[in-house]
Amino acid sequence: MNVLANPDTASSAPKPAEHFDVLIVGAGISGIGSAYHLTQQMPDKSFVILETQESFGGTWLTHKYPGIRSDSDLHTFGYRFKPWVGPPIATSEEIKAYMGEVIAENDLARHIRYKHRIERASWSSATNLWTVDAVRTDSGEPTTFTANFLWMCQGYYRHSEGYTPEWTGMDKFKGRIVHPQRWPEDIALKDKKVVVIGSGATAATLIPAIAGECAHVTMLQRSPTYFRVGRNAIELAETLRQLQVKEEWIHEIVRRKILFEQDAFTQRCIAEPEQVKKELISQITAVLGPDYDVEKHFTPNYRPWRQRIAFVPDADLFEGIKSGKASVVTDEIDRFTEKGILLKSGEELEADIIVTATGFNLCVLGDIAFSIDGKPLNFGDTVTYRGMMFTGVPNLVWVFGYFRASWTLRTDLVADFVCRLLAHMKKKGAKKVVPALRAEDHNMPLLSWIDPENFNPGYMMRNMNLLPKRGDKPEWQHSQDYWAEKDEIPAIDLDDAAFAYD
Ligand SMILES: Cc1cc2nc3c(=O)[nH]c(=O)nc-3n(C[C@H](O)[C@H](O)[C@H](O)COP(=O)(O)OP(=O)(O)OC[C@H]3O[C@@H](n4cnc5c(N)ncnc54)[C@H](O)[C@@H]3O)c2cc1C
Repeated sequence: MNVLANPDTASSAPKPAEHFDVLIVGAGISGIGSAYHLTQQMPDKSFVILETQESFGGTWLTHKYPGIRSDSDLHTFGYRFKPWVGPPIATSEEIKAYMGEVIAENDLARHIRYKHRIERASWSSATNLWTVDAVRTDSGEPTTFTANFLWMCQGYYRHSEGYTPEWTGMDKFKGRIVHPQRWPEDIALKDKKVVVIGSGATAATLIPAIAGECAHVTMLQRSPTYFRVGRNAIELAETLRQLQVKEEWIHEIVRRKILFEQDAFTQRCIAEPEQVKKELISQITAVLGPDYDVEKHFTPNYRPWRQRIAFVPDADLFEGIKSGKASVVTDEIDRFTEKGILLKSGEELEADIIVTATGFNLCVLGDIAFSIDGKPLNFGDTVTYRGMMFTGVPNLVWVFGYFRASWTLRTDLVADFVCRLLAHMKKKGAKKVVPALRAEDHNMPLLSWIDPENFNPGYMMRNMNLLPKRGDKPEWQHSQDYWAEKDEIPAIDLDDAAFAYD
């Protein structure tokens, strides 16, 4: 290298692309878990993780609103390979600390490039490589990578902004409107009247966390949501710990117990939805008492489990309501006013701060412009292979976790699949694998990515056209069923005609 080169000329010349066998997009819980499995199962593969943000954590770094915590237990939201030793429901700080330990214990930090936002990914059949163009978010400098395989761990929603519907009069409101995904550091809640729009997991965690500080907090919902109430502890884990059982064993035993019980619960939701509904609602009545209008505020009009059921540890949301610091209004917004929100019923809710806990903007594959041999790729035109790969898209796997069970259970399963696929390609001497419809699939009806009868969260329903299509056979569906996939994914025949190798 010529160390005396003119620095101006040197910096303006485009840097040559760096090459890796595998490029992982995103350093959230999926990206870090995938990197771990790759190092364990395919230690010879070179790899890099590119991440837009300045640190790891993904969801748990982006969301900074008060009370942010998991709504699934960390025995199953944690990885199968690293015991979770705390209470089952964890704060974002605890989840980040756990991920930090995985990074440190497995020497993963040297593989991660932070502040790298990927903008384009182009596949070339001439070289059998992906070319990935990223921009450094600190300097604006473009950087290019090439990779044989793309492991997409970018999650499912846009991290830079949340979803806020447009309501008439928002510009007239004299107070402050805040989305939980962009929680301002300077916000003062003391003695303020706060209205939180929404009743999902975010509202359910935020409200008890701020109720003590505000003058009053109102949860404004169009329609009620299901909640589960329980102690933030797992008795079996506590007992095993008293018996000084090894943490590795406790983790495995408790995972199995939780998964067994969740399976039974899911089956019951299908077999006897009315009974399950009654039980869930009676947990709330037990806290709020018989005089509270549970029918109006906490009785959803959909079957349990069609949307994720938020867990409320120690009933803190309901204790807040019982104490009078928080309340629930079930009504529709007519418009925003100077003083707050005018409801369709004619009531006006006064507010100093309005929090729009109204969800996410679905983001398909990280807002990256994909192309194949120069032709722009629209994922909506592809058919998914088991929610992991896409017809016509070579050497790419997307990690899309579970909603009804912990997301990360699927991260582990998909990682085993990717490593097995990479090993199979090596054995065959193949440079390329691409899912393709088989002869028997050609007349298959093509449906939307998920069946709205099965699962229908708002951010999915708003953007279904952007998502790949689903067929009518298990190979071409994204089932969201951990209990089936835990056996099906390891048993996938990699020589099936659904995989074309080159
Ligand atoms: C508030 C909240 C609570 C949740 N609680 C639970 C729970 O308790 N249990 C559960 O199972 N699920 C939960 N979920 C769902 C949750 O998002 C997932 O479980 C999980 O954290 C997703 O991890 P991930 O790594 O796949 O994606 P993410 O956490 O979304 O991380 C993706 C990363 O990829 C990066 N990235 C994206 N695009 C690009 C690009 N173009 N270039 C470079 N980097 C990019 C992002 O910056 C981000 O850091 C929750 C979601 C939210 C929002």
